[in-house]
Amino acid sequence: MTDSPIDNLRIHFYGVQGSGSTFPAKQERQAFQRMNEFHLLQQVLDDLASHADADGRLACSLEDLLGGQRSDRLVMAYRDRFAAEESRVYGGWTTCVRIETADGDDIVLDCGSGFRNCARDLQVKWGDRPQRVLHVFGSHSHLDHTEGFDQAAVCFDPRNTLQIYGNRQFLNALDINLGIFTHEVAEEMRGVQTPLFYALMPATFSATRIYEPATETPDSDGLALHDVNQPIRINQTTIQPFFVFHPAPCLAYRIERGGKVFVFCTDHELRRGDDTDHPDQIQSFDAERRLIDHATNADVMYRDGQYFRAEYDGVQGISESMPVPRRGWGHSCIEDVVEMAEGCNIKQTLIGHHDPNRSWEERNWIDESLARNSSMNAYKVQLARAETVIDL
Ligand SMILES: [Zn+2]
Ligand SMILES: [Zn+2]
Repeated sequence: MTDSPIDNLRIHFYGVQGSGSTFPAKQERQAFQRMNEFHLLQQVLDDLASHADADGRLACSLEDLLGGQRSDRLVMAYRDRFAAEESRVYGGWTTCVRIETADGDDIVLDCGSGFRNCARDLQVKWGDRPQRVLHVFGSHSHLDHTEGFDQAAVCFDPRNTLQIYGNRQFLNALDINLGIFTHEVAEEMRGVQTPLFYALMPATFSATRIYEPATETPDSDGLALHDVNQPIRINQTTIQPFFVFHPAPCLAYRIERGGKVFVFCTDHELRRGDDTDHPDQIQSFDAERRLIDHATNADVMYRDGQYFRAEYDGVQGISESMPVPRRGWGHSCIEDVVEMAEGCNIKQTLIGHHDPNRSWEERNWIDESLARNSSMNAYKVQLARAETVIDL
């Protein structure tokens, strides 16, 4: 699939985990493997049953089954006749999504720990070609959206240029530790979070600060400025940023090419509470309206849905964790995302930014019930899985 021509946008999900990288524990991997072995064994028994006579006795030899004398090659060929499910990577690395466009541009959304594998793939794709520009769009400054930056191979190749867009806090989060824009790191910051800094990162880094002229001063700290209300164009792709609601200022992006639309909205809270005139409530609802405006009729939306409503309200814990009220933590409820997907006629919605406390078994269960509930509808809702590739 990935070698076929790109119509408009090819979206690769490298990291969809919220708040911190997490992988299935040993007993969760064992449970998955056991289930897979069970399904394989069922298929083998079905195959054997198809060779049985009327009394249920096997009427063929091992050679008949394998198509020759038993050998590693024939045993493997026999095994390959049966389907085994790939393991589902709901979470894994933190937020990073890459888009390849039909014009040959490479765009990355966020630099969570998924950025490391993303950068490896970019270096392989670029090989020795001279055209080596990566457009990076950051949502916000939190660690789970920036932590992969200094591990990314694209930063260490002097032939590469990274054109980085984000709000002031996102750009600052990169620069304060690494000094990639200002070529300065304060003495007390040097080596504190990472041993790396600009002098060890030979790629070229340029920054464009996305800002809201109605509420922010255009003071640019020497960086290029971009009005959030204006789209950014990269060849035939249009990227429209907009602010959502989160404890740190956070951007979402609507990406469109050839009439196909992908909306990337991580870390946004549709705030729930009885205090409807609370300033946070008003800001959250304003942001939700902006999101609805940009996402209506979209082909694909990736959206934060970290909690169920009962978990958000603190009535119920997440998997084994104790119940804690999560209002103001900056994340939305799965029920609200499903309702929005339906109301906005979004063809495919991927609910991501999974909570690190959520067990793999529960992720499976949620994904399957979302798929079941939306199977009869024009809109599809599922949990986001890392390593998914979607063509638009
Ligand atoms: Zn996050
Ligand atoms: Zn965040």
